[in-house]
Amino acid sequence: MTIPAITLINTKAVIDGTGSKPTENVTVVLEGAYIKTIQPRGQISLPTGYSPRILDFPDGYLLPGLVDVHTHLMFGGWSKHYEEVITGDSDEISLLRASKNALTHLRCGVTSLRDNGSRNKVTFNLREGALRGYATTPRLFLCGRPVTLTGGHFHWCNQEADGVSGVRTAVRKLVKDGADHIKIMAAGGGTTITDNRRPSYTVDELRAIVDEAHNMGKLTTAHCLATQSITNALEAGVDMIEHAGFIEPDGSYKFHPAIGERIAKQGVYLSPTVQTGYRDREALLVKESERTLTKSEYGKLEALKAKCESQLEFLGRMWNKSGVQVVSGTDAIRMFGDYCLGLELMSEAGMSNIDIIKASTSIAAESMGITEITGSIKPGKQADLIVVDQNPLLDIKALRNMSMVMLGGEQVV
Ligand SMILES: [Zn+2]
Repeated sequence: MTIPAITLINTKAVIDGTGSKPTENVTVVLEGAYIKTIQPRGQISLPTGYSPRILDFPDGYLLPGLVDVHTHLMFGGWSKHYEEVITGDSDEISLLRASKNALTHLRCGVTSLRDNGSRNKVTFNLREGALRGYATTPRLFLCGRPVTLTGGHFHWCNQEADGVSGVRTAVRKLVKDGADHIKIMAAGGGTTITDNRRPSYTVDELRAIVDEAHNMGKLTTAHCLATQSITNALEAGVDMIEHAGFIEPDGSYKFHPAIGERIAKQGVYLSPTVQTGYRDREALLVKESERTLTKSEYGKLEALKAKCESQLEFLGRMWNKSGVQVVSGTDAIRMFGDYCLGLELMSEAGMSNIDIIKASTSIAAESMGITEITGSIKPGKQADLIVVDQNPLLDIKALRNMSMVMLGGEQVV
């Protein structure tokens, strides 16, 4: 599709993603794929001969496209654990599914996303396909394969690396293959043979990964469930922490205020991925109310309750007390297009709606190093835009229903 030379978008209000007050009765002018100016309604003078595309949303709120800092595009299948998917499906089938997942997310308003770990070159191939026009996806920012120790979390993505020189080689190989950032598995996780209560890499290994990535101009983010893994990642100077599970060696959850303060002080972004496990918990709660839970499901529900409740509590504490920079990531792996759930949970954790919008637009873009391209409604940025019909400053659930989604000037919804 060719993008019109000039587009005028009229909406009730513009919420620019930076935390500024909404501006009312304005027209956003696009020049091709870019935002040109934001003018009071009715004061646009165009050179003669131009017949602009005009998009009218009299009840609409215009915002920057949403940013998801954490997904795993190649997976999927609600009823299957991701390890069943990875052993059962080829890279080719996974690539097709990644394409579908990416489009599902885009239609829900996510115009930029990070993939934090898929197998082999699946996501690199997706990006190449999208560039050639074979698939429609959000802007993709890819780690390719996560760096993990031998037998570590996501080892089947095929980037195991051990020791200081081993991990440096892994980073170089990933950048050679096309990685935009480096994802580090700093603790065990949902991969069966790993232990989420324990850190994986040593601080020396983590330092080597961060140093090598930074030498190559790449940002790093670390999967941290075990409390010790958070401390190790901070010691090594990572740029972002995923999950911040605060899981003790005995498997209990315990928040450490000093660690929260250190995350804030070091200026490390926190991607709390608050929605992981939420939909499973919800499904099991239904079964509980119907009295059809099996014994093993009962155990799973108890574990999920503890996890979901602690995640929200810790986010609230880090947000309110420590002043940590929070960004929005779904950790989408089995379900795509449910981005707004994480925002609703951030609201439940005590974040204000304006701050949730920042966390999912301008700050998320900043955390990924892409503010020059996207993340706010400012002249010169790409026209990555969404329109919703209710005011998200009053109720964040407004971001569940998109009236328009635009990616680089091209309307996709
Ligand atoms: Zn993840």
